[in-house]
Amino acid sequence: MTKIAIIGSGLAGLTVAHRLKPYADVYLFDKAHRAGGRLASRSASPFQFDHGAQFFTVKTQRFTDFIQPFIEQKIIERWDAHFVEFAGTEKCAERHWNAEYPHYVGSPDMQAFAQALAAPLNIQFNQPITHLEQHCGKWCLFHHGIPIANDFDWVISCIPAKQAVDLLPDKFADRHAIQQTKMLACYALMLGFDDPPTIDWQAALVREAIISWISVNSSKPGRSKAFSMVIQANNAWAELHLTEDDDHIKQLMLAEAERIVCTSLRHAIHTDLKRWVYANIPAQTGQQAYLDETLQLAACGDWCIQGRVESAFSSADSLAQHLITHLV
Ligand SMILES: Cc1cc2nc3c(=O)[nH]c(=O)nc-3n(C[C@H](O)[C@H](O)[C@H](O)COP(=O)(O)OP(=O)(O)OC[C@H]3O[C@@H](n4cnc5c(N)ncnc54)[C@H](O)[C@@H]3O)c2cc1C
Repeated sequence: MTKIAIIGSGLAGLTVAHRLKPYADVYLFDKAHRAGGRLASRSASPFQFDHGAQFFTVKTQRFTDFIQPFIEQKIIERWDAHFVEFAGTEKCAERHWNAEYPHYVGSPDMQAFAQALAAPLNIQFNQPITHLEQHCGKWCLFHHGIPIANDFDWVISCIPAKQAVDLLPDKFADRHAIQQTKMLACYALMLGFDDPPTIDWQAALVREAIISWISVNSSKPGRSKAFSMVIQANNAWAELHLTEDDDHIKQLMLAEAERIVCTSLRHAIHTDLKRWVYANIPAQTGQQAYLDETLQLAACGDWCIQGRVESAFSSADSLAQHLITHLV
């Protein structure tokens, strides 16, 4: 059987693996200690935080079909949040999310969706792959000169664009196109309260501020009821402040969030910050995925389409559909 290595076990890598599993021996490698990538959650008892993707929406039939079994198992649930939009400190729109245009989350946390997808797969964690070499038509994976695994017919990169450029060999046909792809940073500030602030909504999109998003994480289905919030920096601001000290970033974001919600948040009993270097990317106009049939190398991920959960799925799904024609 064809032997395929997939680098990265975020939603893109997990999707490719599920699609190709009936046709090939599939092995995944991830530098992290668990699957999910930016479908990420953290717990600090009694608080829970989704510090990566906040929710996702579904536009295509293929993604609808893919997630349906997980909805049935309640691993994915609808988050019917009271949603508001702020322009600076001014609340300019509000509505209740509902079944008409569902906003989904993993349950009991965002990571649960990835965990469920990962369960039947062969994944090696804590394995950062830094280099690929081809010998006699077979690919070998390395970590800083140390061979990790070999004998692969195909290697599929499912990691953010900059990391894919570092990994893929110079002769990869689309390396230049991937090199042009610029992903943007983000900060996620996590706050836990024993004395909850008075906030009459659960999700807020913020414009004209250094933060772009505030959510009451504990309002999502299946979460601990201990009041928790996630506040995200806007991407342009995060890019400019990427090298600054965490405590300084926390203070700036906290002050901005207080200005917008018009209430004190300083009494949080738990505070944490996650710095995402490759968090987001605006809508792209290039290919859905990249495939070098001569080298038997491929690359996919949200960055081919847009920084969205469904984009990671669609990029991976289109790549897998194409690859299957080589495998049958
Ligand atoms: C703060 C934040 C908020 C977001 N909010 C939303 C939202 O509300 N709605 C939405 O739809 N989307 C949102 N997104 C985007 C969404 O999370 C991503 O589009 C999607 O999860 C990307 O999946 P992926 O598989 O392409 O990449 P990733 O999830 O980044 O997966 C890549 C994987 O590759 C691994 N890896 C990287 N390099 C290597 C290497 N060299 N060797 C081995 N493994 C490696 C990583 O550990 C990771 O597990 C958000 C993202 C962030 C960061």
